[in-house]
Amino acid sequence: MTPSIPATLIAGDGIGPEIMEATLAALDALGDPFDWDAQVAGLGGVKTAGDPLPAATLASIRTTRLALKGPLETPSGGGYRSSNVRLREAFKLYANMRPTKTLIPGGRYDNIDLLVFRENVEGLYMGYEHYIPIDGDPHAVAIATGVNTRQGARNILDYTFRTAIALGRKKVTVVHKANIMKALTGIFLETAYMLHKEKYADQIALDDVIVDACCMKLVINPWQFDTLVTTNLFGDILSDLAAGLVGGLGMAPGANIGEDAAIFEAVHGSAPDIAGKGIANPIALMLAAALMLDHVDLHDKANRLRQAISDTLNVDHIRTGDLGGRANTQRFTDAIVSRIKNG
Ligand code: NAD
Repeated sequence: MTPSIPATLIAGDGIGPEIMEATLAALDALGDPFDWDAQVAGLGGVKTAGDPLPAATLASIRTTRLALKGPLETPSGGGYRSSNVRLREAFKLYANMRPTKTLIPGGRYDNIDLLVFRENVEGLYMGYEHYIPIDGDPHAVAIATGVNTRQGARNILDYTFRTAIALGRKKVTVVHKANIMKALTGIFLETAYMLHKEKYADQIALDDVIVDACCMKLVINPWQFDTLVTTNLFGDILSDLAAGLVGGLGMAPGANIGEDAAIFEAVHGSAPDIAGKGIANPIALMLAAALMLDHVDLHDKANRLRQAISDTLNVDHIRTGDLGGRANTQRFTDAIVSRIKNG
């Protein structure tokens, strides 16, 4: 028997514990390859440790360098800073890979197979924001500063080219707004062409598109794209758009990869509107677990998990409500476990 791999587990907020339980059941059926150290963050961190990102959670990831994380709640407007953003900064998780693949054939968009890479630690997500008070209104003017660096752009672009080539992809498209934000996103575009010419021109094609046109093109004809790479905020928006093409947020996993750790998660949030009802779709987190298995070279287990998801959806026709089905999370999970165990 292969020894278990140490990894940090953060169940997360809202539907997090429900979809994490489902995902752990699937991993258990695959022979329980990870030795989990359970920690808290987000609202769970505030409630149990008085901190949205407790020191013990950071220490655990520093040791394991590997984590599976449920969604973490972040208050809008005021309140504490996003624990997700802080985790990305703390472990220099500069690359966020979000694969989007059709899992249920015959829908509005068939045969989608898109890879979205999002720069994960720079741009307008750095949170450099302030207000200027005028005439007694403390919030009369709001200012945000985005920061993109040459090195930061090189890190994500180099990772994108290397990964896309290793996965046999044919084309990388840089998504930007360099016509308006000439410096902030121009540096990203310019670095992409420099790096491509320097190292990758004979291995993969490169082109670019402005972000607003890219949204329109993704809706009209998503098949024209193969691999997209973009800055932090655009990547956040585009990957949700891409998830919508394949049935919604319940189907989209994400891998945060960096120098010091790798953290795997669902793209979606804590879904407070359905939390506690037992109806959440656990596929996105299960697919994140499959990416995590790939990351530690357990490709056979990763493929078995993906196959079990596909068979449950398309052979057994067991689907959660967001996919038009009638199964609750438990019923769906039981079907996945049965598929993993019985093939
Ligand atoms: P959300 O992704 O939580 O929900 C958007 C919609 O999609 C909701 O209607 C929800 O019910 C549905 N949905 C999401 N996941 C689903 C699933 N697995 N199964 C079925 N339906 C699902 O987005 P939101 O409501 O904008 O955000 C809620 C909270 O989550 C916020 O506090 C936000 O900051 C946080 N968030 C966290 C992460 C993360 O931890 N990576 C990502 C995005 C948002």
